[in-house]
Amino acid sequence: MNKELADFFNTDLQFIHGVGPVLAAKFNDVLGGRRVLDFLLHVPSYVRPRDILDSIMMAQNGDTVTISVMVKSHKSGGVFKGRRRPTQIMCVDKFAAPLTIQFFNVKFLDYWTEKLPVGQWRIVSGKIDFNGNKGAVINHPEFIELPENASKIPTHQAIYPSGEGLTQKTFSNVRDQIFNILHERVISHITDDRMLEFLDTLEHVHFPETNEDLAPNGKYIPKLAYCELLAHQSAIAINKRARIEQKNKRVVRAKKHDLIDKFYDILPFALTNAQQRTIDEIFADFNKPAPMMRLVQGDVGSGKTMVAMAAAVKMAETGAQTVLLAPTDTLAQQHFAKLQPMCDKLGLVCEILTGRDKGVPRREKLISLKSGRTKIAVGTHALFSEDVEYKDLGLVIIDEQHRFGVVQRTAMCAKGNNPDMLALSATPIPRTLSMTVYGDMDISIIDEKPAGRIPIKTTKLPIARTDALIARISAQVQNGAKVFWVCPLVEESEISDMTAAQSRYEELKKHFAGTGLCHGQMDKKMRDKVMDEFADVNSNMRVLVSTTVIEVGIDVPSATIMVIENAERFGLAALHQLRGRVGRGNSQSYCILLYGNNVSPDGLKRLDVLCETDDGFVIAEQDAMMRGAGELLGTRQSGWIQYHFVDYREHRDLFKLAQNAVLNNNDEMWSANLRQIFDCSTVAGA
Ligand code: ADP
Ligand code: MG
Repeated sequence: MNKELADFFNTDLQFIHGVGPVLAAKFNDVLGGRRVLDFLLHVPSYVRPRDILDSIMMAQNGDTVTISVMVKSHKSGGVFKGRRRPTQIMCVDKFAAPLTIQFFNVKFLDYWTEKLPVGQWRIVSGKIDFNGNKGAVINHPEFIELPENASKIPTHQAIYPSGEGLTQKTFSNVRDQIFNILHERVISHITDDRMLEFLDTLEHVHFPETNEDLAPNGKYIPKLAYCELLAHQSAIAINKRARIEQKNKRVVRAKKHDLIDKFYDILPFALTNAQQRTIDEIFADFNKPAPMMRLVQGDVGSGKTMVAMAAAVKMAETGAQTVLLAPTDTLAQQHFAKLQPMCDKLGLVCEILTGRDKGVPRREKLISLKSGRTKIAVGTHALFSEDVEYKDLGLVIIDEQHRFGVVQRTAMCAKGNNPDMLALSATPIPRTLSMTVYGDMDISIIDEKPAGRIPIKTTKLPIARTDALIARISAQVQNGAKVFWVCPLVEESEISDMTAAQSRYEELKKHFAGTGLCHGQMDKKMRDKVMDEFADVNSNMRVLVSTTVIEVGIDVPSATIMVIENAERFGLAALHQLRGRVGRGNSQSYCILLYGNNVSPDGLKRLDVLCETDDGFVIAEQDAMMRGAGELLGTRQSGWIQYHFVDYREHRDLFKLAQNAVLNNNDEMWSANLRQIFDCSTVAGA
C-alpha cells in the first residue's frame, strides 16, 4: 500500500472538519476505532426515504418526512421541578394542520427562534411522532431550511448504525469529507487497480441509492465481504503454518513448586466435567513447544473464571506471571474480588491494575510486577500501558475476547516472550462455523452449567401491555426484587435514546420510588455510582432503567427481573447476554421481552427462540440461520469475529472461495494489503 493511502487510512477522525476529540471518542465507541479506515469499514444499515409531503396529515407515525411549515409561536422550555422541559415551536402546514417541533436540553432558545422565526415559512425534515398527546411532533428535526433552499435536503439518506451521542448528520458530514479528500488528494497516487476497485465499491456502499445497494447479496457487499474473508483466511493460514513450523517457541520453564493440588483443595465447589476437560486441555498445551492459542467458549454462568484461575495457578508453579484482561473496570473489580481471596490461600500475590490507579499506589504495583513478585494481575487495558513491565509474563488471559481488537491483543502479548494465550468468550459460535472463523486457535467448549441453577423464565409481551407488566412486578419489587429495565439504543440521535430511557424512567418513578437511571451520555463516575447503588443489597434502588450500557460487567445477584423494551431490535446473542444479568442468585428469575407495534413475524419468531431455550449454542445456531439482520441495530452485537461486511448466513460460499484462493497462494501481495486494511495481524508478523 502506498504511503499516501496508508496515511489517509490512519488519519484520526478528530482531524476531520467538525469532529473534535469528543466526537472522535464517540466514534471510537461505535466504530471500534477512530481512524478514517474505521469509518470506511462501517456500512450504513439501510436507506431511508425522506418523502416530501404537502400535509402532515399524510404522514404515518414514525415516517421521516420533509414538509413546509409556517411558525406560529414559541414556548420556552424553562425549568420545572429541577428538570428542563422541552422547548416547543408551534407550526402549521399549508392546510393549517398543526405540527409541534420540540427540542430537549436546550439552553438557548434564541438559536431556534432565529432558525424558526414566528410568521415565516421553513422546510423542516425529521421523524414524525404521533404517540404523545400533542398531535404531530418532530423532535429535533435533522434539517431546517429556507424555502428557496429546499434542494439541500436529500430525498433519501443512508442510515448508519450509531451509538449514543452521534447523529446521522454527523455521519453524513464525516462521510462527505472523507470521500472529498479521497478524490482530491489520494486517488491519483494509487496505481493498483484492485485497490481502486475496492475504494470505488466502498463509495457505492456509503452513498447507497436503494436498499439493494446494501444487500448482502447485492452488487457491492459480496465484493467487500470477499476481500475481508481473504484477509482473515490468509492470516489464519499464516498463523497455522507458523505454529506448525514452530516459528515461535514457548519458553520452557521448570516447575518450582506444587500448587495445583492445593487449588483443587480450596475450591468451594466441584468442577463440572466440562470445566475439568477444558483445564486438562490447557495443561496439555503447556507441554507443547508452540505457545498456546486457545479459545474457551462457554455460556454466561458456565464458570469460565475458575478455568482461567486454574491456568494461572499452573503457570505460577513455574514462577511465571499471568494477566487477566477484562474489558471494563467493573468486570476487572469483580474478577479481582473473586480471585484475590483464593490467591491469598495459595500464597500467590494478586493485584488489580486499571485506569483508576494513579500516583504512588500505581507505581508500587508496577514495581511489584516488574520484580515478578505479583504472579497474577487482573485489570483492563492499563495492563499493557507503555510503562508497565513484567519479569516473566507467561500467560495472557483475555476475558470477553471479542471486546478486544487484534492490536490490543498483540500489545498485551508483546509484554512477554511468546506468552501462552487463553481467550474466553461467552458468545458461542455455531460449531459448523468455528473452524472457518477461528481456524488458527484451538477451541474448548464448556457446554455444561454448574448444577442447581434455576432456569430463567422468559416471556414476550406487546409493549401496549406495559401497564399490566408494571402491576405484575410491583408485588415482587415490594418483596425486595430488583429489576433491570433496558431501553434500546435508537439510531436517530442521542436525543431520542435519552428520551426513550428518560421518559421510561419518569414513568416508572411514579410506580417505584427507588428507580435509577443510567445511560451512556452520563458522566462515567455518575454511571458507576448509580450502578453501585443498584448493586448494593441494602439500598432501596430497586429498578434500574438503562440503555444497553449494562450489557457487560454488572453483577447483581439480587436482581431477578430483566425487562427489555423493543427486544425485536436486538440480536439474539445480545438478548441472551442481557438476560444473563439475572438468574445469578438462588431465586427464580424472569426475563420479559417487550416488543413494539411494528414487529415483523420474523422478529417474533426470533423472540420465541429465546423464550424456548437457554442454551447459548442453540441460540447462536438460530441466530446464524434466521434472516432479519437488517432489522437489528448494528452488527457489532453479534459477538463472534467482528466482520464488517461478511454475513454468516449469506456468504458461506465466499468462505470457501477465499479459502481456496489462499490454498492456491493467489495474490499474495493483495492479501497482504487486505490484512492491513482489516487489521489481521499474524503471529509471523507478516
Ligand atoms: P462465566 O462463564 O459467565 O464467566 P463465572 O466464571 O463468572 O461464569 O461463574 C459464574 C458463577 O458460578 C460464579 O459465581 C462461580 O463462582 C460459580 N461457579 C463456577 N463454577 C462452578 C461450579 N463448578 N459449581 C458451582 N458454582 C460454580
Ligand atoms: Mg465471565
